[in-house]
Amino acid sequence: MKYEEMLERAYKSMPEKTLKRERFEMPKVQCFVQGSRTVVNNFSKILDTINRNEKHALKYITKQLATAASIDAGRLVLKGVFRQEQIQRIIDDYIKTFVLCTECGRPDTKIIEQKGVKMLKCTACGAIAPLRD
Ligand SMILES: [Zn+2]
Repeated sequence: MKYEEMLERAYKSMPEKTLKRERFEMPKVQCFVQGSRTVVNNFSKILDTINRNEKHALKYITKQLATAASIDAGRLVLKGVFRQEQIQRIIDDYIKTFVLCTECGRPDTKIIEQKGVKMLKCTACGAIAPLRD
């Protein structure tokens, strides 16, 4: 068989769903600096979008930025001055780790516990994957 024929064959046998996969759009962090603090305005909106509780996200974010933070009327108040890109990168990592399904890439997941191990279960495709803590 010629190389071109092999290529064509391989292409034809590719399942269609791998070609058009919906991509989840990361929520954009809106923040401003107020004195020695950085405020993320739309924190509760981001959590709504990804369906996660603020305690879990807060723990991750403060650990990554090595600072203290609190929640005030749906806004995240970080101790220290941070750039938007810094916070955005951490939120993106959080979503990739704790929200997006490793199989289908959709955000319709929840965290469950199986035999004391935290797993990410996808309600869209049913995939279950262990979570790194
Ligand atoms: Zn899935």
